[in-house]
Amino acid sequence: MQLRYSFRLYPSVGQRAALARAFGCARVVFNDALRVREEARAGGLPFVTSAELSKRLTAVKKTPERAWLGEVSAVVLQQSLRDLDTAYKNFFDGLKGKRPRMGAPRFKSKRDNRQSIRFTANAAWRITSGGKLRLPKVGDVPVRWSRTLPSAPSTVTVVKDAAGRYFASFVVETHAYEVLPQTTPEIGVDLGLGHFAVLSDGTKINSPRFLRRVEKRLKKAQRDLSRKEKGSRNRDKARIRVARAHARVTDARRNFHHQLSTRLIRENQAVAVEDLAVKGLARTRLAKSIHDAGWSAFVRMLEYKATRYGRTFMKIGRFEPTSQVCSACGVKDGPKPLSVREWTCGACGTVLDRDVNAAVNVAKAAGLAVPACGAQVRRVPVPAPRSEAGTHPKQPTRLVREQAGILGL
Ligand SMILES: [Zn+2]
Repeated sequence: MQLRYSFRLYPSVGQRAALARAFGCARVVFNDALRVREEARAGGLPFVTSAELSKRLTAVKKTPERAWLGEVSAVVLQQSLRDLDTAYKNFFDGLKGKRPRMGAPRFKSKRDNRQSIRFTANAAWRITSGGKLRLPKVGDVPVRWSRTLPSAPSTVTVVKDAAGRYFASFVVETHAYEVLPQTTPEIGVDLGLGHFAVLSDGTKINSPRFLRRVEKRLKKAQRDLSRKEKGSRNRDKARIRVARAHARVTDARRNFHHQLSTRLIRENQAVAVEDLAVKGLARTRLAKSIHDAGWSAFVRMLEYKATRYGRTFMKIGRFEPTSQVCSACGVKDGPKPLSVREWTCGACGTVLDRDVNAAVNVAKAAGLAVPACGAQVRRVPVPAPRSEAGTHPKQPTRLVREQAGILGL
């Protein structure tokens, strides 16, 4: 299985200039090649092949107008052409119905949020004995190695994000060699709007505080930006602050997804989730756009970690909203408005929590073993007599402890 590993890079001022040059050259090569193909198409000429583009690139580097392309690694420029080919392939595959449709390749801009270049083995890049990343025509760039690479990568992609941070991204081959000892629990997961996830054992998981905090800061930065006058210097500064806040939210969210997915895969032998495409039908467009990106990243993590650690992962496609069926007796008693968080099944009398009921239904649809007296049977709380209330031990609720556990992973 192939996994992506990213590490923060700290290039010097000179190295940043060299990288900016490389990003620029890669972009020019990409745009030139795209223009050649677009002009051929407009003129009714045959599709210009990659070999032809490559030949033209070699020729154009000898002209005075494009001689500066020689200042960066030739591999970076070749890889830029490869990226264009991939963009075309995805576009054509979409038209043929082999994958979701996507737009035709577009010209790249200096103002794009994310800039990247790729060095393959041919570029003779390497990791120095001192742990720096040696890039041709850039130099030895300091790296923060936050994890250990499981195997030697052959390719490195250098990325500059909207917040101005640099990353080295490696794709490495790993094997499912870390198979964990067997365990018994099997679990259904419902990804929700109220809670991030609800498990079929009754556990409800919210986004952790650190994520909510950076999300709040992002909202404030966005508000500040909207108040700044267009074209003003302050607006530029505010734009950078938004980009930084955005990057922090993305990082915090990824951390949370990693922690939770690792925990679910470690603690359970089988994990089932509802197929998001199916789930999407029931939601508004706004809610969808906010949550889907995060959910699909999380589901992908569950999937690859399951493979890696020898667990079972299942995606359940259902065409019946999970809230319409009683998870205890299976009777379908019709749709309920979102405001109904809890109801009593008319057929069997079980008190059902909307989210837990959905999670249990997901687990059942996946054929997982759900304990007979599962957590969906929520007992109606009996208020304690006033005299006893003070003596009740202040035990943290299960929910609170579960959340603390996530952070401890
Ligand atoms: Zn029932």
